[in-house]
Amino acid sequence: MDFKQCPLKYRLRAIDRIPEPPSRHAVRGTVVHAVLEDLYGLPAADRGPERAAALVEPAWARVLAAQPEIAELVAADGLTPFLAEVRALVDSYYQLEDPTRFEPESREARVEVELDDGVLLRGYVDRIDVAPTGELRVVDYKTGRAPGLTHETKALFQLKFYALVVLRTRGVLPAQLRLIYLADRQILTYAPDAEELGRFERTLSALWAAVREAGRSGEFPPSTSWLCGYCDYKPLCPEYGGTPPPYPGWPEGDGESPDETLAEAVAD
Ligand code: SF4
Repeated sequence: MDFKQCPLKYRLRAIDRIPEPPSRHAVRGTVVHAVLEDLYGLPAADRGPERAAALVEPAWARVLAAQPEIAELVAADGLTPFLAEVRALVDSYYQLEDPTRFEPESREARVEVELDDGVLLRGYVDRIDVAPTGELRVVDYKTGRAPGLTHETKALFQLKFYALVVLRTRGVLPAQLRLIYLADRQILTYAPDAEELGRFERTLSALWAAVREAGRSGEFPPSTSWLCGYCDYKPLCPEYGGTPPPYPGWPEGDGESPDETLAEAVAD
């Protein structure tokens, strides 16, 4: 999606690997995900809302221990309101699903598959549910709002990506993909069909071929859009008076598989 939106942004993020500063919004999302993951680690009967609220502080402590630099970011507006926002989002979850009524098959599962033409796809799936009938549901939590029309393409891209990885790793077409938007308490569902995923697989392969070609030539032109307003690379962007660093070259032979770059970008 980054490459399609702006090749230069993709380059700076995935090839130069220039870190983007963590945002308060992203940190809040990480803590909410940690709480929901912990919640499903408890016996079903213990997954009530009070118990979930009690998981917030330990989850925050864990996230903070892994990224001590976020302390300042959160402290700027106060830790108490930050934790209250996390609790409110976790509480919203109970309007959408009842975690005491089912047992997920997996949480935060790392999924990875190599397509026939060698493209490696990788991502983390928040939750996979399997019905007694064998039907499979892939669930992803979002702490933001459900997308309007402009963002829907991105959400669908991600859903199809997960569906394809599950289809190729398990040989099972997921019956449903579900995006849960906690901020406005909405659920976006999608029932994929095998033919559509076949087309999507060809799209990913073509996209990856375009990325590799750009990687060889070093041509990653900036492409402006309203999303520039959210781009952390603006100071390095020629469209905004900046100068990107010299192209470091395709990261082949540095111990990382170059094919992983696509998967990481998509998983973001
Ligand atoms: S500011 Fe806009 S054009 Fe420049 S790198 Fe970011 S997304 Fe691309």
